[in-house]
Amino acid sequence: MKQESCSFCGRSKQEVQILLAGYGGAHICENCVAHANTIIEEEFRQKPTTRITRVPKPREIMEHLNDFVIGQEDAKKVLSVAVYNHYRRIMSYERTGGDSEVELDKSNILLVGRTGTGKTLMARTIAKILKVPFCIADATVLTEAGYVGEDVESVLVRLLQEADYDVEAAEKGIVYIDEIDKIARKSDNPSITRDVSGEGVQQALLKLLEGTTANVPPKGGRKHPEQSLVQIDTKNILFICGGAFVGIEDTISSRLSVKTVGFNSTPTTQVSKSVNLYKYLQPSDLRKYGLIPEIIGRLPVLSYLNPLDKKALRNILMEPKNSLVKQYQKMFELEGKTLSFDEDAIEVIVDKADALKLGARGLRSIIEAIMLDIMYDMPDSEVEHYHITVDMAKQQLEASLIEFRAAS
Ligand code: ADP
Repeated sequence: MKQESCSFCGRSKQEVQILLAGYGGAHICENCVAHANTIIEEEFRQKPTTRITRVPKPREIMEHLNDFVIGQEDAKKVLSVAVYNHYRRIMSYERTGGDSEVELDKSNILLVGRTGTGKTLMARTIAKILKVPFCIADATVLTEAGYVGEDVESVLVRLLQEADYDVEAAEKGIVYIDEIDKIARKSDNPSITRDVSGEGVQQALLKLLEGTTANVPPKGGRKHPEQSLVQIDTKNILFICGGAFVGIEDTISSRLSVKTVGFNSTPTTQVSKSVNLYKYLQPSDLRKYGLIPEIIGRLPVLSYLNPLDKKALRNILMEPKNSLVKQYQKMFELEGKTLSFDEDAIEVIVDKADALKLGARGLRSIIEAIMLDIMYDMPDSEVEHYHITVDMAKQQLEASLIEFRAAS
């Protein structure tokens, strides 16, 4: 009688602990199951999954965001719920083939907040949690088709590239569109001669946001007749738009104060100067700012980010899983060395970043300026432990080419 053996590695029953029987007399041993499992995990890690099999609950998304994004609790919560709903909608669509009586609308998201407060980081982190393709596009370089600049559809080319040209995966990806405020209509008068950077782009973008089948040249560049085009349906692509909307606080504060004036009116909202006015942002403010109502309608989930105070900046420097300090420490570890910072040196970095008013963006340039000389010498040096004192930090900053003093 033929000895039973693993159909994959050939080991006999005696050589293994478990031999599972399959169809047609095939067998697999525990070693091959484990091996196959590793291959599958590796594949999934590298390749964005095409089919959404499980959507993390809002609480899970929030917990994951907490590992990377400091503060911004309101935005994190809004985003967690919106993203959960979005992917639940896709899952239900996949299951029923869109046959359900209640059609769930897509809810793209608008994040409003100053530069460097974590808008892009949040969108990127969400895409990582869900393991879906993600790309960032800058609204300022987009133009209407036919004008000099990038067609709005170029956004999809990038997403397709991120998805390794897997159209199905790209169609469930996330696109972050930065600086959406920069394509606001410059004039209140909509009948003004077409302005390339404003309303026209908004109109083109609108199509993508609401869901359209776009023909994109897979390698990018301009479309031309001989090129084969790939069709991408944007119906299930989640668009997260972000912008600083500089000056919109004035609109919000005047709206709020108008409301509180009048004989019988009860002051609805007491706003003190220290409060983040973005918190009270309403669609009407965006309209005043120059976004067309249709775009606003397609960005129904609206949230705001708080400016980062010194405490938040300090946390960003130290706390997140991949904080700047931890990244530097890792680089030292790779050389078999250690790195630590004086509490006061951290203070210096935070104070400078606060003065620069670039949100957390300032932190990186400051710490880079402080660490440059050390990083230059470190790999050849005998020193094993590096400790950054306040004097070293100040000295390096003074010597650095960046004019921090001007900002402080
Ligand atoms: P934005 O899109 O709002 O202009 P980013 O998300 O690109 O800002 O942030 C710029 C840098 O600052 C990134 O390196 C990011 O990691 C860091 N950062 C900004 N805000 C936060 C935050 N709230 N928590 C952690 N890191 C942050």
